[in-house]
Amino acid sequence: MAMASLARRRTGELLRPDAARYTAAWSKLYTSSAAAADENDVVVVGGGPGGYVAAIKAAQLGLKTTCIEKRGTLGGTCLNVGCIPSKALLHSSHMFHEAKHAFASHGVKFSQVEIDLPAMMAQKNKAVSGLTKGIEGLFKKNKVTYVKGYGKFLSPSEVSVDTIEGGNTVVRGKNIIIATGSDVKSLPGVTIDEKKIVSSTGALSLTEIPKKLVVIGAGYIGLEMGSVWGRLGSEVTVVEFAPEIVPTMDSEVRKQFQRMLEKQKMKFKLRTKVVGVDTSGEGVKLTLEPAAGGEQSTLEADVVLVSAGRVPFTSGLGLEKLGVETDKAGRITVDKKFMTSVPGVFAIGDVIPGPMLAHKAEEDGVACVEFIAGKEGHVDYDLVPGVVYTHPEVASVGKTEEQVKTMGVEYRVGKFPFMANSRAKAIDDAEGLVKILAEKATDKILGVHIMAPNAGELIHEAVLALHYGASSEDIARTCHAHPTMSEAVKEAAMATYDKPIHI
Ligand SMILES: Cc1cc2nc3c(=O)[nH]c(=O)nc-3n(C[C@H](O)[C@H](O)[C@H](O)COP(=O)(O)OP(=O)(O)OC[C@H]3O[C@@H](n4cnc5c(N)ncnc54)[C@H](O)[C@@H]3O)c2cc1C
Repeated sequence: MAMASLARRRTGELLRPDAARYTAAWSKLYTSSAAAADENDVVVVGGGPGGYVAAIKAAQLGLKTTCIEKRGTLGGTCLNVGCIPSKALLHSSHMFHEAKHAFASHGVKFSQVEIDLPAMMAQKNKAVSGLTKGIEGLFKKNKVTYVKGYGKFLSPSEVSVDTIEGGNTVVRGKNIIIATGSDVKSLPGVTIDEKKIVSSTGALSLTEIPKKLVVIGAGYIGLEMGSVWGRLGSEVTVVEFAPEIVPTMDSEVRKQFQRMLEKQKMKFKLRTKVVGVDTSGEGVKLTLEPAAGGEQSTLEADVVLVSAGRVPFTSGLGLEKLGVETDKAGRITVDKKFMTSVPGVFAIGDVIPGPMLAHKAEEDGVACVEFIAGKEGHVDYDLVPGVVYTHPEVASVGKTEEQVKTMGVEYRVGKFPFMANSRAKAIDDAEGLVKILAEKATDKILGVHIMAPNAGELIHEAVLALHYGASSEDIARTCHAHPTMSEAVKEAAMATYDKPIHI
């Protein structure tokens, strides 16, 4: 296919998707002689990981591209108020925690360890501004036009932009990609003021370390932000309606993970709902009730983080007028080529169904513009890795054991604890395990789950293995450098199809 499309491009012939509904979009794209000189091939609304990656890829494919972003900086939620600032604070707070609690056992002693919160925040802000400016540089390099302002559809090929400077301009495109991302999900009766009751955005910029922090929601964002402030000294309580934390996680790994967090003094109130919030005093008084109903209790906090999920953001875009369909959750529905119910209008990233993750948005962006350019695009949604960046990190790809059971497939499980991994022991950071699930009949790997200090890096060996349809024996027979944490992945693979050596 790759060779065929290359040959066609060389001869000027472009692949056409066969479905009739694409005809309108295709004729829009490839009747450029009739198009106005200022018309783009692709206009992207939203400059987050979905949007900016789509814009760069489109430009690389030779398409005239404009990206519209209202925030004033590129990178979207991820770079500005999500992945990057949270990882900066996770790293800084981990260093403080290690200096305070772990360095002495390695023979490194301080007379005093202090937190300089403004300096910590400044380092986070430096990382954010460096990276967001870097994307502006990539836009220039790839000749993507960048329009700063709020985009609103006038028609399937025209976006009106209220620019940040105060004016208005109309951007025209043969193909328009909606990449407007997501926003914090609010809870009924809980008003976020970003001071006492904060969203993840407020939790990334607190000016004081709260004595008591209550996190509503035990998803990955709540646990990561709870970890940051817990390491810096806050007493953290996580209130969660569901019976467990991070529901998408393999339940065996989840149980160990929760124990780890409890060891780090994070408290959990599961199967519990918040039914009242009182901010009239100095702090916040929450009224709690068992999820199934019952006796109420109160919980006091200096700061409450509302982290109950995220919702697609399409406000002010004018989708209804355009006729772009959304589902019950407000997500834009798309076909396999990311086209919405309106030909020529596409959608990617957090605003469409699928995991709300930056790397998934990026994959959507690349595949979407590849389709627009007449090439083949592909995203395997079963193999999007998920990582919780606590310490240890938890990373997974493929199926959980519960999902494999539901599939009705006979399977094998291989596990290897980091307590038996020489590198983990050498650095005295040996909590966690690798767990591999493989089909019994074929040994094909179905899922991999890792809890380890650097699980977010280790998981990619497994992601690649699953993409190539590898067996656990394939990994087990692959030479892994010693001493590395990766050897635990090899040993877990050995445990899956045969026996591990080191335990
Ligand atoms: C605290 C936190 C931590 C996270 N950590 C991770 C992580 O570690 N790893 C991970 O994979 N994901 C993480 N995420 C999720 C990740 O940020 C999102 O999945 C990702 O940013 C989605 O990308 P997107 O391009 O679809 O949307 P977004 O990043 O939300 O970008 C959409 C952009 O569109 C702009 N926009 C919206 N409407 C308009 C309009 N009408 N006109 C012009 N511009 C508009 C917005 O201003 C925004 O910049 C985290 C999120 C949060 C909140």
